[in-house]
Amino acid sequence: MTDYKNLIDGKMVDNGQWLEVLNPATEQVVGRVPSCGKEELDSAVAAARRAFTQWKKTTAEERQKVVQGIAAAIKENADELYRLLTSEQGKPHAQAQQEIYGAAGLAAAQSTLTLDDVINQDDDTRLSRTRRVPVGVVGGIVPWNFPIMMAIQKIVPALVAGCTIVLKPSPFTPLTTLRVAELIKDVVPAGTVNIITGEDTLGPLITEHPDIDKITFTGSTATGKKIMEGASGDLKRITLELGGNDASIVLPDADVQKVAEQLFWSSFSNAGQVCIAAKRIYIHEDIYDDLSKAIADYAKTVVVGDGSQQGTGVGPIQNKKQYERVLDLIQDAKDNGYKFLTGGDKDPSGTGYYVPITILDNPPEDARIVAEEQFGPVMPLMKFASVDEVIERANNSEYGLAGAVWTKDTDKGVEIAEQLETGTVWINEFMQLSPFAPFGGHKQSGFGAEYGIDGLKEFTYPQVITVKCDAAV
Ligand code: NAD
Repeated sequence: MTDYKNLIDGKMVDNGQWLEVLNPATEQVVGRVPSCGKEELDSAVAAARRAFTQWKKTTAEERQKVVQGIAAAIKENADELYRLLTSEQGKPHAQAQQEIYGAAGLAAAQSTLTLDDVINQDDDTRLSRTRRVPVGVVGGIVPWNFPIMMAIQKIVPALVAGCTIVLKPSPFTPLTTLRVAELIKDVVPAGTVNIITGEDTLGPLITEHPDIDKITFTGSTATGKKIMEGASGDLKRITLELGGNDASIVLPDADVQKVAEQLFWSSFSNAGQVCIAAKRIYIHEDIYDDLSKAIADYAKTVVVGDGSQQGTGVGPIQNKKQYERVLDLIQDAKDNGYKFLTGGDKDPSGTGYYVPITILDNPPEDARIVAEEQFGPVMPLMKFASVDEVIERANNSEYGLAGAVWTKDTDKGVEIAEQLETGTVWINEFMQLSPFAPFGGHKQSGFGAEYGIDGLKEFTYPQVITVKCDAAV
């Protein structure tokens, strides 16, 4: 077992108080991290504030170089990092590798983003120009499902925009993030990136801290609402990436054999613990029987187990609380007599937070397993008859994160996409985010956006400078 330290003001430090981190596959402690409170947060924020005075004056090229250094450090140490990530998060090695290389790729790509000045008026009377200025010190708060990807998608745009950051990983998955902190310690100027760990109680201290100017948060909608409230005291800027209950719509012309496997992974990647996973799959009645059987048959070939073992396709649920929540949803489905195509019948007792791959056969729209975000390896398949009906059902959610349409007729797919009330819609693919396109939720799935120029702007204020050309002074 290793002790991991925090990064504050360019130094790896601890306070002698520790939080233990479990491997969800074995329930054994894999590492310890500092348990921080107000004192450590104050030091980190003060360091970020000091660093901001210089960092905000750097050029875009200087910042780009630093961010590319972060990307390189992650890539060069990918082998060590993905194994560590599996040991704390549970995801299979191949998916952990994707996350680590994905984070390095995101950092490299986003390092190239720039916010150029915009000329609003340029004539004989006036020259008016909008420039973007960094908001200041950012508080970043991330969840446990993609710890490194989420950390990078907060740290990188903050730095690129000229801000400095204090980042808090989830107490369930802080190890890989602190290892990355150690790797980038000498890559980033002291104080520009600070990473501190603690219980959930550290979150509100960040949200309400008087010397933090902006919060960028990824996590549940319930916590997002608390953050909005906490940040309102001094009107901090906020970006919230929250929950989703994404619908996939499969039209009757889809090739059953070709889409079955893709639909499976759109739901079960990372054991379903993905905000943009397909959480409701609507299949046209003409192909429902064939496609639901093909998905269930494929599911039987996928191994649930320890992510560090070769051949594992679906790992454990990341933590006990979420494990119990998912089991409760399955129990509710059983109590209501819904039909299971797979799963739901295995005794989940034993070591590790394993849930069998569970697929439900056409449960009603108001079933908890349909209406709630499952965030686990549990997927309801539902039958629909008409496009109008399925659009209405897909939109009948407080969430609005993403969705997908599967059809050979891509024009039809786009026509349906334009009627879905979500921030992203894919036609014939899933979970593809571009570093250059805004990613954000409609309705209760979020506030603002990450990625691309829109995401970068959220770390800045617009400032308009106007010069009166014919002024009599
Ligand atoms: P969570 O909201 O419980 O925790 C997220 C983070 O917030 C953790 O670091 C936690 O310590 C911290 N936190 C907890 N209470 C806080 C408070 N009162 N104030 C400030 N911070 C607080 O979420 P989770 O269980 O870690 O993650 C799962 C949820 O995240 C799911 O709902 C999922 O859909 C969502 N998610 C969304 C996205 C997205 O981009 N939209 C991505 C991944 C996960």
